[in-house]
Amino acid sequence: MSRPRIEEASTKIVATVGPACNSVEKLIELIEAGADVFRINTAHGDRNQHEEVVNNIRQAAEQVGFKPGILLDLAGPKIRLGQLISDPLNCEIGATITFVRGDEPQNDHEMTSTYAKLIDELSTGDRVMLADGTVALKVEKVAADRAECRVTASGTVRSRQGINLPGVKLSVSAMRRTDVDNAIWAAQKGIDFISLSFVRKPEDVQSLKNLLASYDSTALVIAKIEKPEALEQLDAIVDASDGIMVARGDLGVEIDVAETPVAQKRIIATCQEKMKPVIVATQMLESMHTSSRPTRAEASDVANAILDGTDACMLSGETAIGNYPVKSVEMMNRILLCTEREMLKENIAGRYPNTRVHPITTAVTHAATNIAESIDAKLIVISTRSGDTAWIKSKSRSRVPTLGVSDSDATLRRLTLFWGIKPIKSAELDHTPEFIDQMCRWGRTHSDIKTGDQIVFVTGTGVVKKAQNMLIVHTVE
Ligand code: PGA
Ligand code: MN
Repeated sequence: MSRPRIEEASTKIVATVGPACNSVEKLIELIEAGADVFRINTAHGDRNQHEEVVNNIRQAAEQVGFKPGILLDLAGPKIRLGQLISDPLNCEIGATITFVRGDEPQNDHEMTSTYAKLIDELSTGDRVMLADGTVALKVEKVAADRAECRVTASGTVRSRQGINLPGVKLSVSAMRRTDVDNAIWAAQKGIDFISLSFVRKPEDVQSLKNLLASYDSTALVIAKIEKPEALEQLDAIVDASDGIMVARGDLGVEIDVAETPVAQKRIIATCQEKMKPVIVATQMLESMHTSSRPTRAEASDVANAILDGTDACMLSGETAIGNYPVKSVEMMNRILLCTEREMLKENIAGRYPNTRVHPITTAVTHAATNIAESIDAKLIVISTRSGDTAWIKSKSRSRVPTLGVSDSDATLRRLTLFWGIKPIKSAELDHTPEFIDQMCRWGRTHSDIKTGDQIVFVTGTGVVKKAQNMLIVHTVE
């Protein structure tokens, strides 16, 4: 089996790598099942392990002939519990839990954190959420070296789990030292996408971009929306970012979980309007950690994310630590395919204004999409140096299969996140007979394109700088 295939889902699949799939063989299976981008979560593992994951992905890519994108996820200002004396600890309603300084709790009910100023920044009445929001505490008394809390929702907590402080404005910086180290490493490794957790303002994104620029990295920066502050400044954050992740795991703790479905729709709509790629993340096929089939609600969640307009769906623990990593990708791909086939019949090319790409490119690409739709072309071929032209086509959500053709490996890996674009390498990108011939051959071998079928090409004459100004309707001979 080779990729890209013509019958792949257009919506992209981001699969998180972890012990359940971190071998060349398993990664090949995930790619063949439909994974487009692999996520490395720096909240887990050390540099050596991340290095090994990148090597495995690249070896798998070499063997399978499809280069998935790599997304490095920076933990950002995520606060975690320190070591608990009794681990796991059952927190019962009404019990007292006390946060103390340092990293040496004195009894079962004392907790420490990875954020040195936590006690200074907590006030009476604040809520502290543990174990993904299962356990809730209310701060009752703050003294110089301790913050005493009452348990208001019971559950079990473990050492090093995340701490969420909904509504508490912390002074912690957007990137910790390990994030900076990881970003520099990612720049040196040629990682394609870098996501930043707990973004609160556009400056957080800008500072990561500046850091990357100083290391000559062209990685796309993805802001993870998982704080109420980020929702308040959503427009500016989307403007500052190259892409967005709807990080529902933490978002569902930081804001009322009942509000997350509407927040997801709003975030996706903003990304559509501003032409930025968007990933919906967390618990999409959660039950597939331990079950070979998803729940009906999960299948609907994946389908609804497409209908909201997402570009990509993400798998987290399902592929990283679950029992069915390959089945999870296969299942997600099938739900995506079925939904796209039935629901995306309307051609919405040309609806979105855009400033980032040359207006000629935008107009030609929209026209190409409309022409392809109206003559029932079997394929659209987009020559793209930076990936921008393919990106424009991607946002039109036309269902005509589309090749994003580039001579640059970095651009091709970037296309792995763009909805409906199949990355194909070619040294030739201009409208030569050889190029057209080569693409027709691709169509014949990878799909059922035959003599008499039409292919629409978007390419450039080279006359207009930085624009794709040429549109060719070619009939396969
Ligand atoms: P995480 O981010 O898995 O790194 O926490 C995603 C989320 O919060 O949904
Ligand atoms: Mn998160």
